[in-house]
Amino acid sequence: MQQMIILGATGSIGKNTLNVISQHPDEYGIFALVAHTNVNEMRALCLAHKPQYAHMVDEHAAALLKQQLPHDLNIQVTTGEDTLKGLVASAEVDTVMAAIVGAAGLIPTIAAVKAGKRVLLANKESLVMSGQLFIEAMQQSGAIVLPVDSEHNAIYQCLPEALQHNIGYCDLDAAGISHILLTGSGGPFLNAPLDSLASMTPAQACLHPNWSMGPKISVDSATMMNKGLEYIEAKWLFNTSSDKLKVVIHPQSVIHSMVQYRDGSVVAQMGHPDMRTPIAHCLSYPKRIVSGVEPLDFFKVGQLSFVEPDFNRFPCLGLAIEACDQGQEATTILNAANEIAVQAFLEGKIRFTDISRVNEHCLTKITPYSLNQLDDILALDKQSRCYALEAIASY
Ligand code: NAD
Ligand code: MG
Repeated sequence: MQQMIILGATGSIGKNTLNVISQHPDEYGIFALVAHTNVNEMRALCLAHKPQYAHMVDEHAAALLKQQLPHDLNIQVTTGEDTLKGLVASAEVDTVMAAIVGAAGLIPTIAAVKAGKRVLLANKESLVMSGQLFIEAMQQSGAIVLPVDSEHNAIYQCLPEALQHNIGYCDLDAAGISHILLTGSGGPFLNAPLDSLASMTPAQACLHPNWSMGPKISVDSATMMNKGLEYIEAKWLFNTSSDKLKVVIHPQSVIHSMVQYRDGSVVAQMGHPDMRTPIAHCLSYPKRIVSGVEPLDFFKVGQLSFVEPDFNRFPCLGLAIEACDQGQEATTILNAANEIAVQAFLEGKIRFTDISRVNEHCLTKITPYSLNQLDDILALDKQSRCYALEAIASY
C-alpha cells in the first residue's frame, strides 16, 4: 500500500486526488492531509478519509479543527512550517501529492523532493521559481517526480520510456524529438472582442469553457499566463528551451499536448478534460488504474481545431516566454507579481487587462540578482510582491 500525503487537500486537485484514491482503497493509504484555512472542508475530508494527521497551515484554523474533530478518530491535528516539513519527510510517507496553489507550495514541495519521495507535481510554481534547485535536489535525493499538470503529463506519456526515467535531464535530440507542442484551450476570452477585455469580471474570467479548477489557475487560463507558467515548467521538466517549445491553441481541450519527432510523427495524448486522468496516471505509474473518467467518444467530440496564439490578446503569455529565456530570476519575479495581480483582480481592485501591466512593471523595474539558494528566491519573490502592490495602489 502506498502511503500518501496530500498538500492542498481541500483544493480542486486535492479533492480529485482523494476521489481517485477512494476508488482504490486497498492500494493507497492517507498518512496526512494538508490545507490552509478551510476548516469545514478539512473536517469533512477527515471524516471521509481518516488520515493519521490533519495539518492546517493557519494556526487558528488548526485550533478550530481540533475542537471539531471527534476524538475517537485519533487524528492528530498539527500546524507550523517545521512540523509540515517533518510530515512530508516522514519515513512512513511514500508519495506526496504537491497541490498547494502558488508560491506557498514551494517549501513543502522542495522538502518532499529533498526527502527522496515519489512526488506527484501539480504545484507548477515551485518549478517556475526554483527550477534549477528543484532538479538538482531531485537528482541528489533520487526523488521520482511525476507531472500532474495535464499538459506535462501528456508530454510525459508521449515520451520514450528512457526519457520518462530521466526527468529534468532528458536529451530530446538524442531521442529524435524536434518539438514539444504545448496545447491550451485559449480560455474563456479566446474570441471575445479585444476592447471588451478590460471590463471582464472575475466571474467571467473563472468560467473556463472546459476545465473546472481553482480561482487562481482559472484567471491564469483567461490571461494565458497559465500556459506561460507551463512553458517554464516544461523547460525544466524536459530539459529544453524556446527553440523546441511551441504553444498551440486547441479550444476543445481533447488533446492535452503533443511530441513531434524528427521523422514527421506527432504523438498526442487525448482524453476528457478531467484532472482525474493525469492524477490516476501519476498515482499508479507505470501501471494504469480506473480513474472514474468516462471513455472518450470520438463521434461526440467531432472536430478538433488549432489556432496560433495572439500575443496582443494574451500579453502575459509573451511575458512568460521572454522571462523563461531570461532565466530563473525573471520567472520568479513574474510568478510573484502575477499572484498579487490575480488576487487584486479577484478582489475587484484592478481590471483584467491590468494583470499584464502589473507583471510587466515588475519585470522591468526589478534588477534581479543571482539566485543560489531557496532564501534568495524567497527574497526576490517578496520584493516582486511589494513592487506589484505599489503598482496596483497607483492604478
Ligand atoms: P485550489 O485553489 O483549488 O486549492 C488550493 C489548495 O492549496 C487548497 O487546499 C488550499 O488550502 C491550499 N493553500 C492555499 N494557500 C495555501 C498556503 N498559503 N499554505 C498552504 N496551503 C495553501 O487550487 P488548485 O486548482 O487545486 O491548484 C493547485 C495547484 O495545482 C496549483 O499550483 C495549480 O497551478 C496546479 N494545477 C491545478 C490544476 C487544476 O485543474 N485545478 C491543473 C493543473 C495544475
Ligand atoms: Mg495545465
